Amino acid sequence: MQDKDLYQQILGLKSPWTVSDVQLDHEQSEIRVQVDHARGTKFCCPECQSELSCHDHTEERRWRHLGSCQFKTILIARVPRVKCPTHGVKNANVPWAEKHSRFTIMFERFAIDVLLATQTVKGAMSILDTKWDQTWNIVVRAVRRGKQRKQSVTMPRIGIDEKAFKKGHSYITLLYDLDNSTVEAVSEGNDAEAAKACFSELSEDQIKGVEAIAMDMSAAFVKATKETIPLAENKIVHDRFHVMQLATKAVDKVRRGEHKKLKSEGDDRLTHSRYLWLKSQENLTANQRHLFDEIYMQQLQTGKASAYKEMLRDLWHHDDSVAATTFFNDWYKRVIHTKLEPMKTVARSIKERLANVVSYCTHRITNAVAEGMNSKIMSIKRRVGGFRNVGNFKTAVFFYCGGLDLYPR
Ligand SMILES: [Zn+2]
Repeated sequence: MQDKDLYQQILGLKSPWTVSDVQLDHEQSEIRVQVDHARGTKFCCPECQSELSCHDHTEERRWRHLGSCQFKTILIARVPRVKCPTHGVKNANVPWAEKHSRFTIMFERFAIDVLLATQTVKGAMSILDTKWDQTWNIVVRAVRRGKQRKQSVTMPRIGIDEKAFKKGHSYITLLYDLDNSTVEAVSEGNDAEAAKACFSELSEDQIKGVEAIAMDMSAAFVKATKETIPLAENKIVHDRFHVMQLATKAVDKVRRGEHKKLKSEGDDRLTHSRYLWLKSQENLTANQRHLFDEIYMQQLQTGKASAYKEMLRDLWHHDDSVAATTFFNDWYKRVIHTKLEPMKTVARSIKERLANVVSYCTHRITNAVAEGMNSKIMSIKRRVGGFRNVGNFKTAVFFYCGGLDLYPR
């Protein structure tokens, strides 16, 4: 009698539901808690909520609950069915579990906590003692729940970015709310259509509410944005990290060309120096810094290209876009008169999109949030084993980065 009361309280069961039996199965390491309802209880039609008398019951069903003292706890009940004049024979809702779930609400809440903490389905499986499909299903249901509850609020500052999904080929495009650091939409590919698919997830009011949008200099994203967001030309900000990345890649190109030339003359000054030019100056160790200075002093093309790249950083230190434009034009003039072809190419592409580079001074946004989240997403990709398709990957991104209210209640 005592264990019945105990489990009644543990499960938080309220009238008309009571624990009618508790059995311990040593062999299966299971505690089975039989739950029953008082006779004559009325239940609601799950569709229209009209109160009806119990028509019959389903077969016995089992729900996994939180373990007690190393034993799996299983809740067992026959679900009452009602016969609604409008909706026919339906299973009534039970208070301890969501429809179609094989777990109690308490178990599912705990499982979500474990999944968030371990960040891997496999890790969660070993703690929860569940199977892959069951565990993944908790993730899917949590995301569905979260998306249903999600309110459509305006997002004045957003970012759009591509990410390689599989090495080399498949890409996904992600749309971020920069203020809340959440992923709002994910689509396959990295072309204009992919960007548009992300925008199509936003409501009309959300589209109108966008004040600034950070992105790389990809023509596809620019095109999609212009076709979707009103007055996009004033709102696009080419992310400074992407712009600097282009400059860094150009320095590397200069280095490769120069290294090849020097090597053919038996000069190996640039051997093993690649990382010196790829890293930002402040991230070099004292030794690297020394080596850098040494090569830099030798008037090599690579050193010059690197100096121009470092100079370009100041573009983002200006208070307004007019000053930033003046600065850039001066930088451009210097670069364009050099023989550093890769740097000149970058200078030209920035010039072409300059208005949307210096718009940083107005909007002050970058995709740094997105970059930070990208690393989280990449670690999800590595750690959540068993992604068979992009769909599963998307679900995981929303589970971990969607800012959704995931818990059943
Ligand atoms: Zn009904």
